[in-house]
Order: sequence, then structure tokens, then C-alpha cells
Amino acid sequence: MSTDPLILCSKISKIYGRGEGSVQALREVSLEIFAGESVAIVGPSGSGKSTLLQVLGCLDKPTQGQYVLDGKDVLNLDDDHLSEIRGRFLGFVFQAFHLLPRLTLQENVALPLLYQGIKKKERLAQAVLALEKVGLTHRMTHRPHELSGGERQRGAIARAIVHNPRVLFADEPTGNLDSAVKHEILDHLCALNQNLGLTLILITHDSETAERAQRILYFRDGSIAREERR
Ligand code: ADP
Ligand code: MG
Repeated sequence: MSTDPLILCSKISKIYGRGEGSVQALREVSLEIFAGESVAIVGPSGSGKSTLLQVLGCLDKPTQGQYVLDGKDVLNLDDDHLSEIRGRFLGFVFQAFHLLPRLTLQENVALPLLYQGIKKKERLAQAVLALEKVGLTHRMTHRPHELSGGERQRGAIARAIVHNPRVLFADEPTGNLDSAVKHEILDHLCALNQNLGLTLILITHDSETAERAQRILYFRDGSIAREERR
């Protein structure tokens, strides 16, 4: 097994815009995350959490700094390469579920595999496996409007892991859910980390949510103010 970090960032800065109206969202963030870890990034609104996720998730590039993901210097890669890396390695869950209303849950979960040229039968079979991991196979023929908020988010998690990524990014995944459902979703995310070894990076402004992770990075004004290990 490799002892190199899966994610290695050094002095990542991100400035949005130019001149007077520019905003520095990240200030020289350096960070190492190892395969199989669960890491919460917590901090007030506007502190740069989502910007960090965009950079770590290869959705946006920083203004400065270095980012090595699984040994690859990803900042030198073009958009096609980055989208290939996302499609193979990374999964994303956001606050809003973004399930397509006209597709069944199974079809929604299978959808990302379409872009990888996988045949329909295989896509639907992989969707069943992903739905099993979040205990939702009994709902797979339902459409999103027939599901509860918690079930929709579990569906969104299944869709995020249908291609067996190594890293799962979750940005405020329980932000739209009430407290009982919040814990259920966190249980599922933690189980994916603990049972399947999926590296989990969880962004939240909620300390109760953050406490479910092994490491908590406290973010303030675009940088890591302190870290807690549990
Ligand atoms: P958080 O997720 O912690 O709430 P964000 O990363 O979304 O913080 O935002 C950090 C700062 O960057 C904020 O001041 C925000 O207004 C600014 N920001 C975020 N995205 C953009 C953007 N696309 N263009 C300009 N400013 C942005
Ligand atoms: Mg945010």
C-alpha cells in the first residue's frame, strides 16, 4: 500500500475577479489527505469551503499553488483530462439533490455511467449495486417526487458512487434536511467511508455534522485556522 497522500495541496490560493472587486477566497491552503480518511471542513459561510471543494474536486483551478491528486499534478491537465479524472475517481453530493424528475431513481443513479460509454444493461445493474449501498433498492422504480427528502439525498449519494470513486465530496449534504434525517444521511456517508474505504471530504457549517469525521479542519477567511483529530 502506498503511503503517499491521495490529496496533496501546497499553498493553494484562489482569487475571484480582478482589481477592486476581487475576492480572495483561499489563502495559501496546504493540506494532505490520505486514502480512506474522513475529513470535515467546517467554517462560517463565506470562509472558502466550497471554493476549496471546487479545487480539490478538479471543478475549478486555483489562482496559485500546487495540487497533486493520486500522484498526478492535476493543475497542468486540460479540461478533458480533468473531466476524465472526475468521472473515474471522484464523486460529488451537494445540498440540492438534482435528480431528474422524469427518470426513475434507478435511471437517475445510472445516468453518470452513460458518459463513460457503458451499455444500458450494465449501467442499470451498477445502479442497483449503488442503491444497495444506501439501502434504497425498494424505491428504484419510483420517480424523485415520490420520494422523501432523505430518500432523494440517499439517491443522490448512490448516483455519486455509482462509478466506484475513490473520493466522495459532500458539500452541505444535510443542509436541506431535518435533524432526524440528517443523522441517517451522515450514517450512510460514514458507512461508505468505514466499510468501503471511500475517502470522505465533508463540507459543513454545522459542528455536529463535522464531528462525524476523523479529522476536522476549521476554516476561517480562506485558510485553515486549526485542525482537530479524533
Ligand atoms: P463557503 O462555501 O465557505 O460559504 P465560498 O467558497 O462559497 O464559501 O466563498 C468564499 C468567498 O468567495 C466568498 O466571499 C464568496 O462570495 C466568494 N465567491 C465564491 N464563489 C465566487 C465566484 N464564482 N465569483 C466571485 N466570488 C465568489
Ligand atoms: Mg459553501
